[in-house]
Amino acid sequence: LISISNLKKAYGIFTVLHGINLDIAEGEVVCVIGPSGSGKSTLIRCINRLEAFSNESSIVVDGVTVGPGKALAKVRAEVGMVFQSFNLFPHLTVLKNVMLAPMRVRGTKPADAERKARELLARVGISEQAEKYPGKLSGGQQQRVAIARALAMEPKVMLFDEPTSSLDPEMVGEVLDVMKELAWMGVTMVVVTHEMGFARQVADRVIFMDGGRIVEEGTPTDIFDTPKEERTQSFLRAVL
Ligand code: ATP
Ligand code: MG
Repeated sequence: LISISNLKKAYGIFTVLHGINLDIAEGEVVCVIGPSGSGKSTLIRCINRLEAFSNESSIVVDGVTVGPGKALAKVRAEVGMVFQSFNLFPHLTVLKNVMLAPMRVRGTKPADAERKARELLARVGISEQAEKYPGKLSGGQQQRVAIARALAMEPKVMLFDEPTSSLDPEMVGEVLDVMKELAWMGVTMVVVTHEMGFARQVADRVIFMDGGRIVEEGTPTDIFDTPKEERTQSFLRAVL
């Protein structure tokens, strides 16, 4: 579903990604772990070209090449993204936040968008909050709205960049539970996370990055129980 080859990205003379190769199959859940500054966010932001990358590189999402041209809008409509900060529209109710993109981008009729939005809010467990403004919700609730909003576009893949790291500890679980459910429903997901328990439980494949490279990848058991690379071992010693 996603094919990344020789992905290179530099800020001036500073190279952040040194030729990443990564293929992600439909229905696969890939967790990306690694130290701060290793290029995890940059990698997933390149997938929908929130970051430009070198022209030697190629990223193809569902058959569409992610380039600077017209096809980019199509790619972005099919790639849902959830960030550390929730980025909800503060002047719109929760319901309207979830309805907006399908109406604007896909031309969905308001009644259909609302039905779909209510269904998604129920799925993430916040039906009762539909008429409130985001500012009135807890962090965990806001993040669940952000997930519902991304799902409203019926994306082919969901990208998550540390979706729980700005949450109070007691709210982390409710967001991870929603993500687990998506994973079990077969949604293709790429998740940058520091939640090793989540990665172990949910990932089909774990990718360890350091210094702009994929150092090691494998099943959760490979990476967490029998990591081969010394850098993976020392990272896991520090975080587990
Ligand atoms: P973290 O775990 O802290 O989120 P990360 O693995 O997501 O880290 P990135 O945010 O992808 O790391 O950053 C990779 C490198 O690129 C870092 O060294 C960072 O300083 C650098 N970088 C990121 N954005 C920019 C920018 N706009 N200009 C210059 N350098 C940048
Ligand atoms: Mg990051």
